[in-house]
Formats: sequence, structure tokens, C-alpha cells
Amino acid sequence: MISRLSVAMTSDTAQRLTDHLRRADGQEDCCFVLWRPSTGASRTSALLSEVVLPQGGERIVHGTVDFTSGYFLRAAALAAEHGCGLGFVHAHPRGRGWQRLNTVDHEAEASFAAQTQVITGRPLVGLTFAGADAGFGARVWQQQAPRRYASAEAESVRVVGGRLTVTVNNRLLPAPPATNRQLRTVSAWGQVTQDDLARLRVGVVGCGSVGMLIVEALARTGIQNLSLFDFDTVEELNLDRLLHATIRDVRLHRAKAHLAARTSRRAATAVNFRATPYELSVAESEGFAAAADCDVIFSCVDRPWPRAVLNLLAYAHLIPVIDGGIAVDARGGRLRGAEWRAHIAAPGRACLECLGQYDPAHVSAERDGSLDDPAYITGLAADHPLRRKENVFVFSTSAAAAQLNQFITMTTAPNGIADTGAHLYHLTTGTLDRREDGCEKGCPYDGMLRGLGDDAPVTVTGRHMAAEQARAARRLAIHRWPLRARRAVDDLLLRL
Ligand SMILES: [Zn+2]
Ligand SMILES: [Zn+2]
Repeated sequence: MISRLSVAMTSDTAQRLTDHLRRADGQEDCCFVLWRPSTGASRTSALLSEVVLPQGGERIVHGTVDFTSGYFLRAAALAAEHGCGLGFVHAHPRGRGWQRLNTVDHEAEASFAAQTQVITGRPLVGLTFAGADAGFGARVWQQQAPRRYASAEAESVRVVGGRLTVTVNNRLLPAPPATNRQLRTVSAWGQVTQDDLARLRVGVVGCGSVGMLIVEALARTGIQNLSLFDFDTVEELNLDRLLHATIRDVRLHRAKAHLAARTSRRAATAVNFRATPYELSVAESEGFAAAADCDVIFSCVDRPWPRAVLNLLAYAHLIPVIDGGIAVDARGGRLRGAEWRAHIAAPGRACLECLGQYDPAHVSAERDGSLDDPAYITGLAADHPLRRKENVFVFSTSAAAAQLNQFITMTTAPNGIADTGAHLYHLTTGTLDRREDGCEKGCPYDGMLRGLGDDAPVTVTGRHMAAEQARAARRLAIHRWPLRARRAVDDLLLRL
């Protein structure tokens, strides 16, 4: 396996582990966990699904910690029964940050890596808990040859919920080199927070008016890796709202994802900046896999299908999704009001479906192409969000700012507060509504689907006709140009 490796868990699971592993007497402790895979295009994550605490006599604490074979077999059988993998966590009571495997740990884990693979059909995941700051380190025991197992270090361990906390493996993802470019930013929240933020892999789904502003802000802030998703082409009617888009981009039939990549490369303050454009919908399997590589995703789409896909990524794959939207009330051709929302879908918070951000009935309508049929749209109520097209750049900047503030609050937790609920701002009254409760009772997202990863029993991806047509139209438009013009564009693209 050449894939990058990561481990993710909900903050509830992290809390349960912390409560067990951080002992009042300062001694080492351990326990088993169950995990499920989440497979992206270039990263595989082990999502911890359950903590299997030791029962009386199953482990012996004597400064260091030992466990009985009975405990191992009970946990491994439970993993096999649930179709899960098995993980083993032990504590370094005084450790801080990413914990590497020492010789003693290595021998201990190596001794049951093979048995784990045989019983569960999945590799053993080893985790080390750092008692001083509740950080984690992790590795996966992969089979090299019959009976020979070697541990491959993960690049990060993500804890997802009210707050997003990532312990990063500095050897695989070194902290970015210090420059003067982010001095003011670093003076606001310190180098440690900056280094953590910079190394998040951030996805932006939808590079329209709101998405493009978010891309600009992320690049300026020093984020090193951006994945940019949009299958649409820059059009003349985008020019009043699309940051950095010019009439030249319209004439060149520039893909919005490429405009976003160009924009962000010019704005980036990170030395090792990388923007990857995807002319894909996240509802296409390739787009979904690329999105599953991200640590956090901005949702800047207004369609129900991609929102439903992102909702699944947030809960089943433990990738927080920062979503938002704008509604302008322009009845009778006059501005009567405007609202914008910003909220985060993540375990413990209300999901996009419970927040009313999409109607599941419209997901199937979009999948079968109805939403792109003018007759279907005309049949909807006049004030239906899917019919309304009014938008103003100023409101886009407000919505983008609201989403970015949610991101900063979740990752930096000012004054220890990471979750301030879902926000709805009313222009007319200048007021902000907040919703702080989680999903509705019985909601499957923050319920049975949570942490299921690849095992989630729903298929959300499929053929996306609108995306295919947009790409085909772009290719066709470019092919119609005379050869000289095409060469000029190629030259231009090469220079970016
Ligand atoms: Zn150890
Ligand atoms: Zn929900």
C-alpha cells in the first residue's frame, strides 16, 4: 500500500480514551479499539469506532502495562464480529505531541500484528497516547511477506467534533519554514496554531463567488494544501461576483477550478504551496475519493446532491464540512432582505439535512437530471431556493467571512470555545440567530452512519450528467479555436 495513512476519531471517543488512559497515579495504561477504513484517492484513514475497555484482571499495571491474551482475543473476536479492524492504544503519561514507537512498544505490537490480521482480516493499528497534551501518534502494521509485518507511520491523528484537533507527524509532514509573510497572522494566534493550520489539507467544493473568496483567504493565511472542486466554466454572468475572473477567462472558457488554482497560487504565502484543481463534482466517484483525502471541507455549493454527499463525508468519514448559503428576498424586483448562513457538519453538531440545507427528495431529482430540466424548476414555488438566482457580491463576501470564522473558531478555539453553533444572519434587522443543538432524534448521519467510512451502506456517487456536459462543452469550445489561439493558451497555462 503506497497510500498516505491517517487515523480519525470523534471527540467523544478521544474523551473516553483520555479518561481511561490518563491515570491519577501517573502509570501507563492501555486498551483496545475497533476501527473501520475510509479510503480516499491518496490517503487511507482508520476511523476508530469503539473503545473496548479492559475488564477486571485483563491488564496488569505495574509502572508499565501488560494485558492478558484473553483481553486480546475478546477484543479481536469483537472486531471480527463487527467487521472492524483492531487497534491497540497505550499511554506515555508524560509524552507530548506525536509519539513514536520505541523498541519496547515495537516488540509488543509486533507480537500480535500477525494474529490480528488473521482474526480480523485487517492490519493492526497501533496508537500511542501522549498524557501531557492528549495528543496521539499512530502506525499501521502492514504485511510485507508471509508472517513478516512492518509498521508504517501515519501522517496524522484527527479528533473531530466541536473542535478539530490534529496531531501531526512532523517527520512526514514537517512544520512549514518560518517566513515574514505571515507575521501578522502568527502574532494573532501563535506559531503552534499556525503550524497546525498550515498543514491541514483543506478542500473547497464549489469555486463560485463564495468559494473563490474562501480560496483567497486560505491561501493568504498560509494553508499549504488546497483541493479545489468545480466542474463549471467561467461565464460572463459570473463577472459581477467572481473574484479575479476577467472577460479573458470567459473567452478562454476557463474552468472555475483552474481559475481558483491560479488565484490561490498568486495569493499563497506558504512556501510549499500546492493547489490541486478537480474539474469534478464530489458526487462523481473520482471527486468523492479526492474529497475523502481532505481534513476539512468548505461546502460552497447550492445543490442538494453534493450537499448530501458532503453530509455523508462529515459523519461517516469524519471530515468536518463548513457549509453556508445566501438567500436574497427580491420580491417585486426590490431588495427586501437577505440572509446568510454558516455552520459546520461534524459529529455532535447538527447535520446539513437537519439544518434544512437540502431536501433529500431533491437529491434524487438532481440525480435523475430533473433539476436541470427547466420544466421541473418552473413547477417549484416561486420563492423556492432552487429557483432563486438573485445574488450580490457583497453578500458573498459576508457568507464567505461567516464560513471562514466558523473554520477559525473550530480550529483555534478562542478562549477554549470551538463550537458556537449554526449561524443565520439577517441583513434587514442586523441580527444573528444561533442554533446550538445537534441532529434531530433518529437522524442517521450523527447516528448509525457515524464513523462507518467505506462500510456506510449507501451509494451517494454516480454519473453526473451536468458535470459531464460542462466538461464536454469546454473541450469542444477549445477545439473550435484556431491552432494559434490554442497554442497561446497552452503557453499561458504553462506559465501559471
Ligand atoms: Zn510506549
Ligand atoms: Zn442530522
